[in-house]
Amino acid sequence: MESCIFCKIVSGEIPAHKIYEDDTYLAFLDIHPQAPGHVQIIPKKHYRWVWDVPNIGTYFELVQKIAHAQQKVFNTDWILSKIVGDEVEHAHIWVFPNNNVQGDKMDFAGNAEKIKAALN
Ligand SMILES: [Zn+2]
Repeated sequence: MESCIFCKIVSGEIPAHKIYEDDTYLAFLDIHPQAPGHVQIIPKKHYRWVWDVPNIGTYFELVQKIAHAQQKVFNTDWILSKIVGDEVEHAHIWVFPNNNVQGDKMDFAGNAEKIKAALN
């Protein structure tokens, strides 16, 4: 979709701190983080709602992997997730640690590197 900011991140037209990418999904840091390492996970194809995404089990398996990586990086069990859908009209799931973790939420490069390393 031409006007969609997340489609532009998928195409590379808008830069993002990517932490995971495969043929179907992309995960990147939110530019307005609620906490350090706040990740957005999206299908690369434009769907309006999370509930429109086919094979949704694979989507949530990725969400779980990223949450586990955040648990390691930020040394906490408490990872929040939100499915709201009103800010950007492209399916997305927020995953972020609770606000009491150590770290600078504006250190995008550093937080992206740490989460990427923990995913491997
Ligand atoms: Zn889109």
